[in-house]
Amino acid sequence: MWTLSTDAASAPSVEGSNSSNGSVVPPDPAKPSSGTVSTAGTVSTPPRAATGAFDGVPSYSPSSVELFLRCPMLWYLQRLRGWAPRVEEWTPNRAVGSAVASGLAIQRRVGVGQRPPSSEALQGALASLQEAWQEQDQWELPVVEKLVARGLTLACEGPQTIGMVRALLIEEPVYGRKPDVVWRDTEGRVVVDDDKVVVSLDARWESERLAEYDHSWQFRDYAHHVGVLLSEPVYQVRAHLIVLGPRKHVTLHPMTYSRDVLDRWYRSALSVWETMHAIEERAQPAWQNLLVCTDRHTHFGQRCPMYDACHVYGCDEGQMEALYERAQKEGI
Ligand code: SF4
Repeated sequence: MWTLSTDAASAPSVEGSNSSNGSVVPPDPAKPSSGTVSTAGTVSTPPRAATGAFDGVPSYSPSSVELFLRCPMLWYLQRLRGWAPRVEEWTPNRAVGSAVASGLAIQRRVGVGQRPPSSEALQGALASLQEAWQEQDQWELPVVEKLVARGLTLACEGPQTIGMVRALLIEEPVYGRKPDVVWRDTEGRVVVDDDKVVVSLDARWESERLAEYDHSWQFRDYAHHVGVLLSEPVYQVRAHLIVLGPRKHVTLHPMTYSRDVLDRWYRSALSVWETMHAIEERAQPAWQNLLVCTDRHTHFGQRCPMYDACHVYGCDEGQMEALYERAQKEGI
């Protein structure tokens, strides 16, 4: 793990390619890949157009799987049926994270390394924030804009690009998932980074947060899919943690997976994806994980957002409209 450093390093470039933004265009998933080897040690079948299919099983995005693993009914109601609580207090946290990520993507595309963010990156970040902004009484836009600018500056001046030669992929879709950036390092190895922006994180909880990344489904998923796409192993996956307060800092948390670890993850993934697909196809019902309905740790400090749907309305969608609405479905 590295912490924020102000050491100067040469700015990595974006690898030359045929895409308009200068990054590598992933192969058409509808076309057979060039003999890529799956983590199970067998040659993968070509992935399906939407999210990829491996060994004949459609894959699901890490965020979808993480919801499914919390509770299959929660995933079913939210992702497959599109239900969301009708009254939800808006906070800018998600918008701040997306805005910083947008600014970083712009900064990486122009190949800028460790220096203050370019004006294009800053403008892009603020435009993203303004687009997501919802009027309410608690937060003022200029205050949150400063927070976004601080996050972007922190990230740009941080240690992320040290030892990286060029960006191979910047926010490019990789079989339905989108790692923030894939680098080639000075040793010629592939490194995958995902930005994690946190508005406030008490120092006491940072090690716990980093430990959660160590067993994260998402990072193993990225290591697998980027490896298949590039037909070479991923050397390292890193959580790029950008903390905006109370002590603003950046932490890079690297994780390296052995072949065994990725093989084991892949076997689990096939089982999970297969079950999700069966539920999506209505070949089997979603079940309820009743152990976590009021577990605040599982639901980010709240009880389950679909608690009333399950325990007041008995999962009857005909009755749920009093408290829930059908939102636009996110990717499944
Ligand atoms: S209330 Fe319980 S059973 Fe219902 S979706 Fe939430 S976690 Fe699952």
